[in-house]
Amino acid sequence: MSRMLTPKCKLCRRAGEKLFLKGDRCGTPKCAMIRRAYPPGRHGSKRRRAGSEFGQQLAVKQKIKRVYGILEKQFKKYYQEAKGKTGVTGDLLIQKLESRLDNVMYRSGFASNRVQARQLVRHSHFSVNGKRMNIPSYEVKTGDEIQLKEGKQGKEYYKRIAEALSEKKDVPNWLELDTGKKSVKMKAKPSKDDFAVNADIQMVIEYYSR
Ligand code: SF4
Repeated sequence: MSRMLTPKCKLCRRAGEKLFLKGDRCGTPKCAMIRRAYPPGRHGSKRRRAGSEFGQQLAVKQKIKRVYGILEKQFKKYYQEAKGKTGVTGDLLIQKLESRLDNVMYRSGFASNRVQARQLVRHSHFSVNGKRMNIPSYEVKTGDEIQLKEGKQGKEYYKRIAEALSEKKDVPNWLELDTGKKSVKMKAKPSKDDFAVNADIQMVIEYYSR
């Protein structure tokens, strides 16, 4: 299974904004966007020209891919699947991104960032409706219940985050977190208002429609 290998902070510097890809570190003065808030590379600190329309669409697409940690092939596949369905393509694309298992585990508080959530899923920490699931891109469906496996509950990591999980206030309303069971249920499909990225998804649609 392929994954994005570029150093995370470089992705933020390239995007020109904080993408919060490293969890706790992102809120500290160690954040690269505080220390070197310019694009990486030898000429990165020099002034950049305003981008063309195409360049802006490309930048938005890249930013969304980076936030969710997915590669071009998969992202384009999501777009094509969304386009092939009845409904607003942009809204359906957001739904696909937000319904990824790694994203759901991050949004419900089991991980401090999507990279960590992906790793926990890959290491088979969760089950979906009682069955083992270790595919980060698994599309969570309405009614699915994802639970931390019993064998993993005693791990030091989960003991550490137990308190944070019980105090978590920003669980999206399409998810239902059960801190006692250490599980999360998808109550409804995420909508366009649940998009975690400050970006215009329509620019991605225009990019791929060229
Ligand atoms: Fe981005 Fe976080 Fe690195 Fe800051 S610390 S540059 S927000 S990944």
